Amino acid sequence: MNISHIEHIGIAVNNLEESIKYYEGVLGLKCYSIEEVVDQKVKTAFFMVGDTKIELLESTSPDGPIGKFIEKKGQGIHHLAFAVDNATEALKLAEERGVALVDKVSRKGAEGLNIGFLHPKSTQGVLTELCSKK
Ligand code: ZN
Repeated sequence: MNISHIEHIGIAVNNLEESIKYYEGVLGLKCYSIEEVVDQKVKTAFFMVGDTKIELLESTSPDGPIGKFIEKKGQGIHHLAFAVDNATEALKLAEERGVALVDKVSRKGAEGLNIGFLHPKSTQGVLTELCSKK
């Protein structure tokens, strides 16, 4: 699978602007990008922390994945994303190792990365994303 580092930590928030105030005003991080991912019904904001990013996720619709997550659990850590060489191959390998996949093949996520999710029922309870530049 060749995981090189934690690419980002995805955090579900009620309100992107309010959350950005905390990350910038209190933690002193700088939001370098805000991007809407239409097919995931989210608006995202990114912060760099070393080699790792914080990805804030605000739902643009109550029936999107983040909308549903917040309704059930409230704001908080939503997923962990590992950087791999090739997300498609890593998904295939995970499936061969018995992991249930949310995404059978990789798709385009925020920042143009190829991404795919492993189902939390197979990952000790943590929604896990694999992402790669190719
Ligand atoms: Zn993510």
